[in-house]
Amino acid sequence: MESVIRDVVDVVIIGTGPAGLTAAIYTGRANLNPLVVDGDQPGGQLMITSEIENYPGFPEGIKGPEMMARFREQAARFGATFIHGSAVEVDLSRSPFCIYLEDGKEILTWTLIIATGANAKWLGLPSEEKYRGRGVSACATCDGFFFKDRHVYVVGGGDTAMEEALFLTRFASKVTVVHRRDEFRASRIMSLRVEKNPKINLELGQVVDEILGDEQKVTGIRLKSVKTGELAEYPCEGVFVAIGHIPNSKIVERQLDIDEYGYIETAKNSAETSVQGVFACGDVQDYTYRQAITAAGSGCMAALDAERYLESIR
Ligand code: NDP
Repeated sequence: MESVIRDVVDVVIIGTGPAGLTAAIYTGRANLNPLVVDGDQPGGQLMITSEIENYPGFPEGIKGPEMMARFREQAARFGATFIHGSAVEVDLSRSPFCIYLEDGKEILTWTLIIATGANAKWLGLPSEEKYRGRGVSACATCDGFFFKDRHVYVVGGGDTAMEEALFLTRFASKVTVVHRRDEFRASRIMSLRVEKNPKINLELGQVVDEILGDEQKVTGIRLKSVKTGELAEYPCEGVFVAIGHIPNSKIVERQLDIDEYGYIETAKNSAETSVQGVFACGDVQDYTYRQAITAAGSGCMAALDAERYLESIR
């Protein structure tokens, strides 16, 4: 590919999770030949998810990576072209928009669909950083296997924390869920599964004060009671942080309207952003639902909106 694609393309999609790939399928089928920029984590968050049991059409469930491979294959079948690597900058100040890739290439496009998703949030403790990959993880599916017959802690009270805790019981001898409040945020069904699991115990009203280690690996955790401030240390081999996500909106933060948490603002019942011709879908604009199916649905909306916008400027 030459460094600047001289012909202005109709659609560039950044991100290849369920949102970006659904947008690619729809714009592909509309003969718009979308260029799809893979992003930092091709396939998005589902690549580090275990079984997906709630995506309609898969009554037996499906593994996250397999589902994303199918989405991708379907997009390619309708003419989507994939570009490996990430977009590092965009210029939305004039149309056509310019997308700058990490290898120095530039693409000009009439419409842009941003589907860059969100990433796991960390507690922000230096010890967490120090022992990441040496006992500290944000992905049970990726790292659970390494904790066979070990005692691990899961931090968080949402559905992700419940899912991680349940998954880890397949490997760990014991799983302790630490949550800062006395009540979980997670759905009732997931909370109940956790509460009933004999391998799981709960530390409620507690926050992580420190992750302890011997310089090589995690050896324990220090918890602090939210009510009394009391500190207590426990031995463990792993700490899984599952406290939510941060939207990947940095690339457009000064060019589009973004809310206080970093989510791209879209118009009601539409994928339109504050710049005409730029659309957003999936977790980068969805604080509320953050499901594969809602991401895919919003990817479809973004594609249809982009298609209509292109018709309107021709
Ligand atoms: P959530 O935002 O729902 O939950 C984050 C949890 O982490 C909350 O319990 C929060 O506590 C806690 N937390 C946040 N920051 C800190 C901190 N600094 N220190 C300690 N605790 C902290 O995120 P999830 O990733 O769990 O879920 C996101 C969405 O995805 C939800 O809509 C969820 O339903 C969905 N989901 C669905 C699944 C399924 O259906 N199978 C699986 C996984 C996710 P507090 O409650 O006090 O705010």
